[in-house]
Amino acid sequence: MTRIGLGKDLHRLIKGRRFLLAGVELESDRGELGHSDGDVLAHAVTDALLGAAGIGDIGALFPPSDPAWKDADSMTLLRNAFAMVKDRGWRIVNVDCVVICEKPRLLPVRENIRLSLAAALECPADAVFVKGKTGEGLGPVGENRAVEAEAVCLLERP
Ligand code: MG
Repeated sequence: MTRIGLGKDLHRLIKGRRFLLAGVELESDRGELGHSDGDVLAHAVTDALLGAAGIGDIGALFPPSDPAWKDADSMTLLRNAFAMVKDRGWRIVNVDCVVICEKPRLLPVRENIRLSLAAALECPADAVFVKGKTGEGLGPVGENRAVEAEAVCLLERP
C-alpha cells in the first residue's frame, strides 16, 4: 500500500533570527520567527509525513502552546514524527519539496539540505529533492518578509 501526504508552511523573516532549512543554516541577515527554531522546511516535511500516515499534524503533536517546544530543534520534531510513521510500518518512497524565498539563494546549500533530510528520514539522498523559487518580488515572500515551504511525501507499507 502507498499513501501520499502534503505539507505547507510559512514563517515571517525578521532580523536577529537564524535562517534554517532542514537544519542547515543559511547565511542571511534575517531568519525565521517561530515558537520553535522556525525551520519552515522541516515543518512542511513533518506535516507531509504525518498527513501521509494519517497520524495528525505538527500543530496537534507539537503545539506552540507547549513550552516544551519553545526554541525546539525542528529536525528533532521531524525525527520524532518519522519515528511514529515508522512505528506504523511505513517507509519513505520519496519526498519532494519547494522552498520559496526572495533571498538567500538556495542552490549553494541545496545538496546539504537534501542530505540532512535524507539522514533524518533514513532514505537515500536521491529519494529527496528540494527546489528553490523566488516570489518574483510580489507579496510578503517576494518582499523578503516571509519564507514558504511545500512538501509532498510518498510512503509505502508492505
Ligand atoms: Mg511552522
